[in-house]
Amino acid sequence: MIFDYDLFVIGGGSGGTRAARISAQEYGARVGIAEESRMGGTCVIRGCVPKKLMIYGSNVPAEIEEARGYGWQDAQVGDFNWPEFRDKLALELNRLEAAYTNGMVDAGIDVYKKRAHLIDQHTVELSDGARFTARYILIAVGGRPAMPGIKGEKLGLTSDQVFFLKRLPKKILLVGGGYIASEFATIFKGFGSETVMVYRGDQILRDFDREICSHVTKQFSDIGVDLRLCVTPTIIEKDGEGIRVTFSDGNIEAFDDVVFATGRKPYTSGLGLEEIGVKLGGNGQIIVDEWSQTSVSTIYAVGDVVDQVNLTPVAIRAGHNFADTIFGGVRKPCNFSQVASAVYLRPHELATIGLTEEVAAEQGQIDVYVSSFRPMRSLFSGSEARSVVKLLVDVKTDLVLGCHIFGPEAGEMMQMAAVAIGMKATKADFDRAIAIHPTVAEELVTMRKPTRRVGIPAVAIEMDINALY
Ligand code: NDP
Repeated sequence: MIFDYDLFVIGGGSGGTRAARISAQEYGARVGIAEESRMGGTCVIRGCVPKKLMIYGSNVPAEIEEARGYGWQDAQVGDFNWPEFRDKLALELNRLEAAYTNGMVDAGIDVYKKRAHLIDQHTVELSDGARFTARYILIAVGGRPAMPGIKGEKLGLTSDQVFFLKRLPKKILLVGGGYIASEFATIFKGFGSETVMVYRGDQILRDFDREICSHVTKQFSDIGVDLRLCVTPTIIEKDGEGIRVTFSDGNIEAFDDVVFATGRKPYTSGLGLEEIGVKLGGNGQIIVDEWSQTSVSTIYAVGDVVDQVNLTPVAIRAGHNFADTIFGGVRKPCNFSQVASAVYLRPHELATIGLTEEVAAEQGQIDVYVSSFRPMRSLFSGSEARSVVKLLVDVKTDLVLGCHIFGPEAGEMMQMAAVAIGMKATKADFDRAIAIHPTVAEELVTMRKPTRRVGIPAVAIEMDINALY
């Protein structure tokens, strides 16, 4: 059978564009790609990129305050012009979107700025009715914000809209305790908004190491984020120009904006997947094997739509591995068990790889190394903010099972620790490295004595170390 394309990709985000470009540019595949919104997808247009720029922008007052601590006694932050920042951000996103589109075109890929859905295992149809056949179809449509299902929630916003607000809210409510709520709490507080964050549980950032999270909670309190635990909104109503929120504890309060950051769901509805036999999981995610192949042999899926590790670099790697495997003849499975990530908070970020203390202690006996200290830079300017560096080491094998850093630019540090841990570094390997002094990261290689030993003795449970990698 002759197909219009070797590969048709649905979704122009991180995973889809990487798969398309490598397939076309490196391996000569004939590729088409459809994107219903803007090329670049969530990360570039309404996620990581604008968020990180907002983090930088919102941290300026703290930097000015630090400058005063270094003797720049007249340093003043002045007024923040949100419309100017927002419009500049929009221009930057336009530039990136164009770069993504041009990258596709330059690689010889046909770009269709249309919604697409599946007709059969080899055919897609665009929203204008055009149909194309392809030997393989890759679904890389990502996810969409999930709403909690409370009365009046449509009056709230999601992270999709937060970059394009008409004006900076004087008072904002963030709902949720994950990456997005935590990062936007930091951002809006930094920009000067009165910031309230409500989380339904007793510890935000549920899947992170609890000890480190307690430092995050303290940091919110220190910078003036009003974090309320074990509370949820129950009713959202219009209140003049603002929004009135009733909470589960009976409190009623007015806000200028309410942002729901209550997770994301795979964006699989209306794609025609189940109609042609592609199996979906309970959260609407596409079920794939380690080769990103779905239950229909010609259809593959990568990125947040498979709802495994919902991070941009994972989607990019899966897209690249797909191209190498299918068109490059080099079989590269997707096994993402040691993935580092960072939550962009200020002044200190949270970055992590591997097991938390709680999980590691359930699997065997571990030595916990913790160093908590006031970094030289902020201490000098008068800040009490503490950094924490934590290593979890398997007593039996000396392998470093987890690394957690709460500190300035923790994400930058964690990237290098991830290389070592990915190579199965032991604590002795860390100790062998000579410190770079004076840095925060030197704590990673100078912690000599464990703070505590926890977990079940290794003799009782044989930990399957290989399963971690
Ligand atoms: P997360 O899954 O991180 O957090 C969702 C939060 O919403 C949790 O605290 C959850 O509570 C809470 N929640 C869920 N449902 C409800 C409900 N019905 N009522 C009240 N609270 C609720 O999702 P985010 O939206 O923060 O982020 C989405 C994805 O984006 C993440 O998977 C993340 O990987 C990615 N991301 C990554 C970033 C990074 O790498 N820096 C930055 C931003 C996003 P509970 O814990 O109790 O379930």
